Amino acid sequence: MKKIFAANWKLFKTPAETRSFFSKFKEVVGQATGEVVFFPSAISLEAAVETTKGSAIKIGSQNCYVQAQGAFTGENSAQVVKEIGGTYILIGHSERRAIFGETDALIADKVAFVQSLGLTPMLCIGETLAEREATHTFRVLETQLHLGLAKADKSKPIVVAYEPVWAIGTGKVATPAQVAETHTDVHSILTKLGFTAPILYGGSVKPDNAGELIKQAHVSGFLVGGASLEVDSFIKIATV
Ligand code: PEP
Repeated sequence: MKKIFAANWKLFKTPAETRSFFSKFKEVVGQATGEVVFFPSAISLEAAVETTKGSAIKIGSQNCYVQAQGAFTGENSAQVVKEIGGTYILIGHSERRAIFGETDALIADKVAFVQSLGLTPMLCIGETLAEREATHTFRVLETQLHLGLAKADKSKPIVVAYEPVWAIGTGKVATPAQVAETHTDVHSILTKLGFTAPILYGGSVKPDNAGELIKQAHVSGFLVGGASLEVDSFIKIATV
């Protein structure tokens, strides 16, 4: 399975900061040992696409709506992402689920819509600390995958990002053993559902833990928040 290193910039970086980042990152992206994908905030997307044109860097949006256009004030259109040259859409990030109330049913519609446009959905799943402590991790992930992939096309590309909610932005990374065990579970759930997909780990990935985490079973790369905002730290992660 090819490796993928994905950067979630959340609500950081203006278009000018985006251009400045890529003018430096383009010089080092050739060192990456897998595909590199960036998810800038919506208004910086075009600056990202323009500055990375002609390079191997892929660009995607952090969210989209389930319609290409219409009376949906404040939403993002995947059709527009496609038109400007984006290729991925992040779907169901834990911040979208927790802060913006996204349900598995809405997420399933987004996955199917994104695939129908020929873009690749990167579906995020993950358990909270309370769910892990109650030993419900497997059940939570199984439900999120079962419902989130309910309308997905098995013959079209899809990427899954396993991100334990308690490890996102907290500096509390899952141990290599937890990552190996959970990725093996996610892989077996996907197989049972009939999907083949790279499974990325996300949650406080940094240059000093990436090398150990990438060796774990069924880890095909990373989805990185904080450490993707600087060229030096992200390229160190993308070269493991
Ligand atoms: C994320 O936002 O998906 C993420 C994993 O963030 P961080 O790397 O900062 O934990």
